[in-house]
Amino acid sequence: MLDKRKFYINGEWVDPITPRDLEVINPATEKPIAVISMGTAADIDRAVAAAKAAFRSYSRTSLDERIALLEKLLEVYTRRYDEMARTITLELGAPITMSTDQQAHVGIGHLEGFIEALKRIKLREELPNGDIVLREPIGVCGLITPWNWPINQIALKVVPALATGSTCVLKPSEFTPLNALLYAEIVHEAGFPEGTFNLVNGDGVSVGAALSKHRDIDMMSFTGSTRAGTAVSKDAADTVKRVTLELGGKSPNIVFEDADLEERITGSVLECFNNSGQSCDAPTRLLVQRSVYDKAVEIARRVGSEVSVGNPEEAGEHIGPLVSDIQYGRVQTMIEAGIAEGAELLVGGPGKPEGFETGYFVKPTIFAGVSNQMRIAREEVFGPVLAIMPFDTEEEAIEVANDTNYGLAAYVQSGDLDRAERVAARLRAGMVHINGAPHRYGSPFGGYKQSGNGREGGMFGLEDFLEIKTVHRPLSA
Ligand code: NDP
Repeated sequence: MLDKRKFYINGEWVDPITPRDLEVINPATEKPIAVISMGTAADIDRAVAAAKAAFRSYSRTSLDERIALLEKLLEVYTRRYDEMARTITLELGAPITMSTDQQAHVGIGHLEGFIEALKRIKLREELPNGDIVLREPIGVCGLITPWNWPINQIALKVVPALATGSTCVLKPSEFTPLNALLYAEIVHEAGFPEGTFNLVNGDGVSVGAALSKHRDIDMMSFTGSTRAGTAVSKDAADTVKRVTLELGGKSPNIVFEDADLEERITGSVLECFNNSGQSCDAPTRLLVQRSVYDKAVEIARRVGSEVSVGNPEEAGEHIGPLVSDIQYGRVQTMIEAGIAEGAELLVGGPGKPEGFETGYFVKPTIFAGVSNQMRIAREEVFGPVLAIMPFDTEEEAIEVANDTNYGLAAYVQSGDLDRAERVAARLRAGMVHINGAPHRYGSPFGGYKQSGNGREGGMFGLEDFLEIKTVHRPLSA
């Protein structure tokens, strides 16, 4: 078993102030693979002090110096890429093909997106009235990340903090801490000055809250559940720090009768099940125009029943287990709720797939005949569970799509691009995908309503980590 008990503070691997062990579990085998330490507020104090001290000089480094550091980070990350993919497979259960092609790859894509934006950013700007606006690093940043796309979130927070001249303390999810510890090794090897990046493991209610409340933290960037995001905001309120949140979603996917049905329903089902459904922007509510509804349901049934579940260590297009027994229990509860509320079970259902009694595997599940008032249409399931419902008109589709507390992503499938853009403009969501177009590195990621605030990635992601200073200077006559 791996011993990963140390934290990374002030450029060194250090022991926790009070030892408290936690085993990291492989979700495919339910066996421990590593032991980490659960930190305390005292460890956070130590990490924040290091970050605060480092900010004094790091905040004054030049753009060129920071671009050079990020380019070195890219080089080291690329060299250790396969190690990263294997680590994510081991602790998250993402199949190795998916870990390699997607989970580990985002670490490169986002980094390149930020480097490109940093090369274009204007840190000093003259206003038409003669005043000067300066963009300055915000200070010490507290970063809390989840387990579902672990390197995605780490890259979307650590990189803009370091790119803009801020310093940071990261608390990753204790379900997937090993990729974060590997990232710390990579940051160290890239040569970032001591104290600029620090990592403390621990749980949300103690270590996470200690960060949010800390008076020497200037900004919190959080990704996870709406429940925990609300807690971070409340904890941060007394010290009036900036808070950016990337929370859950219940993203609608509107399929019009003029869409390429075979291609778009197939793509939609597979996208919903990607990463075993553990994605905040997954298209989980499939709204289909009634004239093609029966046909779409049949395609979804066929595609859904062909999705296989399998061992994450094996290459292939199968899906893996959920991350934990807690997530397994939550997803089972939601599948039972769908059945109890009278939705038509098309594919899958409760329990484990045949031959997968060990591990947190669930059956890819599709419900048809769902109403937008059912729990499976309103609550984030975070498992491979798709809800299909019919609509008649464009107006009705928009209304149902927007009838949710969330507003992260939305999806539109149509053969008429003018219509697709017209509908996209009326959807209350931070990102709209038309006909399967993917999210591209460098574009802003984030949501409306209870899906959060702030935007991550590229130029918009850098701006969230910057303060604005106005310099009023005397103007010559
Ligand atoms: P959480 O929101 O609890 O976990 C995400 C991160 O927040 C973890 O690092 C967690 O630490 C931390 N955290 C939890 N509570 C607090 C707190 N009070 N203050 C500061 N940090 C905190 O998600 P769960 O793992 O419990 O998943 C629950 C549901 O959340 C999922 O089923 C899914 O619906 C949603 N979710 C959404 C994500 C997204 O990308 N938007 C990502 C993950 C989950 P710790 O685990 O140690 O408590």
